[in-house]
Amino acid sequence: MSSNIRIEKVCQHCGNEFVAKTTVTKYCSDVCAKRAYKARKKREKIQSVNKPDKQKADYRKNKFAEKQYLSIAETCQLLGASRMTLYRQIKKGAIPATKIGRRTIIKKSELDKIFTS
Ligand SMILES: [Zn+2]
Repeated sequence: MSSNIRIEKVCQHCGNEFVAKTTVTKYCSDVCAKRAYKARKKREKIQSVNKPDKQKADYRKNKFAEKQYLSIAETCQLLGASRMTLYRQIKKGAIPATKIGRRTIIKKSELDKIFTS
């Protein structure tokens, strides 16, 4: 039994119009099907590579959540600001900081105040 179905479709990979023999065909040719498969695999790989980064970001967030005092580096990370910007804000008095020995320490609650005021 041969089917005479002819379905006009657009290839999901190259965008060319083609006539499909089945309703499930998505690609105009084997080449496109293979390329699309490869592209999908690549996307999946990239996504799985990104995952540890997200975990790291979550870890950082949690780490900051528990801390009351932050170093310059941590504050930069938290605010997404550069060291220069942070030092400038400290100098201006916009961000209160304390020096303990050679280390500059910033109280996290002071940062919260900046954003709530
Ligand atoms: Zn195609």
